[in-house]
Amino acid sequence: MVNRLFPNFQNDERRLHIQMWIVLGVWTLLILFLLLWLLRNEDTEMLELARQEAVANFNKDQAFRVWATKHGGIYVPVSEHTQPSPYLSHISERDLVTSSGRRLTLMNPAFMLRQMMDDYNELYGVKGRITSLNPLNPENAPDEWEREALKAFELGEVERFEVTEINEAPFLRLIRPMVTTEGCLKCHGHQGFTKGSIRGGVGVSVPLAGYLSVTNSRKRNFLVALSMIWGVGVVGVWLIGKRSQQRIQERKNYEGQIWHQANFDSLTGLSNRSLFMDRLDRALAYARRHEHKLALLFIDLDRFKDVNDTLGHAVGDLLLQEAAKRLQGCVRDMDTVSRLGGDEFTIILPEVVDGMSATMVAGTILTSLSRPFEMDGQEAQLSASIGITIFPHDGENPGMLLQNADTAMYRAKAEGRNTFRYFTWEMNKEAGGRVTLEAALRRALKRDEFELHYQPILTASDGNLIGAEALIRWESPELGLIGPNEFIPLAEESGLIVPIGDWVLKKAAADLAKWDHAGLVLQKLSVNVSIVQFQMKGFTRKILDILNNQPHLASRLFFEITESVFMDEHREPGARLGKLREQGIGIAIDDFGTGYSSLSYLKRFPVDKIKIDRSFVRDVTSDPEDAALCEAIIAMAHHLGLEVVAEGVETDQQWQFLRDSGCDYAQGYLFGRPMPFDRFTDYLKQNLTMDRAVV
Ligand code: C2E
Ligand code: CA
Ligand code: CA
Repeated sequence: MVNRLFPNFQNDERRLHIQMWIVLGVWTLLILFLLLWLLRNEDTEMLELARQEAVANFNKDQAFRVWATKHGGIYVPVSEHTQPSPYLSHISERDLVTSSGRRLTLMNPAFMLRQMMDDYNELYGVKGRITSLNPLNPENAPDEWEREALKAFELGEVERFEVTEINEAPFLRLIRPMVTTEGCLKCHGHQGFTKGSIRGGVGVSVPLAGYLSVTNSRKRNFLVALSMIWGVGVVGVWLIGKRSQQRIQERKNYEGQIWHQANFDSLTGLSNRSLFMDRLDRALAYARRHEHKLALLFIDLDRFKDVNDTLGHAVGDLLLQEAAKRLQGCVRDMDTVSRLGGDEFTIILPEVVDGMSATMVAGTILTSLSRPFEMDGQEAQLSASIGITIFPHDGENPGMLLQNADTAMYRAKAEGRNTFRYFTWEMNKEAGGRVTLEAALRRALKRDEFELHYQPILTASDGNLIGAEALIRWESPELGLIGPNEFIPLAEESGLIVPIGDWVLKKAAADLAKWDHAGLVLQKLSVNVSIVQFQMKGFTRKILDILNNQPHLASRLFFEITESVFMDEHREPGARLGKLREQGIGIAIDDFGTGYSSLSYLKRFPVDKIKIDRSFVRDVTSDPEDAALCEAIIAMAHHLGLEVVAEGVETDQQWQFLRDSGCDYAQGYLFGRPMPFDRFTDYLKQNLTMDRAVV
């Protein structure tokens, strides 16, 4: 189970890392690819723009050439730069003289253009040049690249360009073919050119420096932009990875918590039954392998239920926590202390040489628990009963060891509590005593083995009988007379208290009716109602039904409940009590003073009486503190409009004291012990004054 609940988080984290690296890699490649594509595109576009410029230049040349050719060349004044062209000597009208005597000479377009281009080059850096495979002017002879281009033009190509360096500066040079037109023949006819034939090419070289600076700056921008996008992506991936890692961590924590909840007791932090069984199993396997002995201690707190009932569950929980701490303080690190539930604990001593070490631990535990527990300023006393089994002698498997330790624990309880017993196989024969008692209790209901006794309650002011408390007795044919203190807790644990409580109510109502018939009218009849009954769903409904069917009960019934009822606020005891009181049922708080003793609930809940516990009354004449407390309780109750019943009044002195303190009612052996029906009938006959008998 442990492994199933702890999936391999290492794997999850490794997988996450790998995934993150893959995503980062793909992202980086994508960005790189985009960058390369953009850079390449930039170059292509730049060249295209430069080419367009070159073409524009070429077109202008061409237009001028066409225009000049159409006019058969142009006459210009003869100057230093414009000497008559020796290449045109075959033209008769090469040189003219104007009427004013100025000498003019014919310029062919190629010559003019060459000069213009020189100027253009000087002014703007754009170079132009005319070339031919068969040039008139040797300066126009093609270089290697031009020659290739010209040859290609003859085969039908229309343009070539390249990036090159001229004087160590970058240039784009473009060359296009020149086609022979009608006008060309004037100068070139003698060379055998025919109209439409390719007679050379015109090259234009555009400087690339400007383009390059624009392109480079754009490239830089791309680089910066893409780096930023890449960075954003990387940060994004990192953040997502971080978040995923957090999720894994959260899940890890969460599942750790679940694991903890499944294996540890939330109240004490000790291992719970399931982890205990697991550990015991392992410890046994180890002990078997190494031929060790192992001891198992089964610890049950004595009368813990009483503590819970009187001090309240919250204090009970604190006690359990403290007890758990003390248990842990009694063992070594290697020993496992667990809480099986309720007030049951176990301890595994995995390596014991002989019984002695278990004895020592058990002794230490009893001593440790015997120190008083202090909680919220209240002191409580605890003890425990411990059963011990030794592997392999008392059992081979976890179940058997545990069961036998439990049996030994019951033996410790039976033999006076606050002690420990080693399991013996003889015990097994008597084991299940608890089960037997429970079964007997079940049978008792069917066989009608219960009886109700009645104890008188007197008015303090005049000593007259006012009512009685019904107290259950069990006369078992097998077990003899068993007191309620012995079987009520078991009845509450097993739920049998509910049918038993029903029986008590029915019987009390029937007895009351009988007395009524006999003219013995008892004003008030108290019955004890267990918290288990009170919390049972449908309890109030059931009581209302009983009251409806038995009108003689009206306003005469008192329920005695303990303070623990008020601790369970989520079941709204106030509302239940209110409903009961609406029907005329009185509510008395039993055993007052032993319990939670927070008096705030007296104000909040509808209550009529409190019954001061016997233990206070016992010492009122000997212990000034108890006396003061008793007085204070009475005063405070009166202040809240409640009446007070003193329980367990045994002596005249007690009785005197209580009357002086203003106590309203009293109950105790001094006035009468609990009596069976017949005896109590006689008691009524003697003690009911006639005027009180008529209600
Ligand atoms: P409790 O409600 O506090 O009942 C009073 C107990 O004090 C009775 O014990 C009674 O016999 C005893 N007592 C009365 N006067 C004196 C006295 O002067 N001195 C001494 N030492 N004891 C006195 P009992 O009958 O053994 O009942 C014990 C407890 O069992 C009751 O305590 C009550 O909590 C419970 N119980 C009894 N009958 C019922 C019942 O029908 N239903 C429920 N749920 N609980 C019951
Ligand atoms: Ca009572
Ligand atoms: Ca009581």
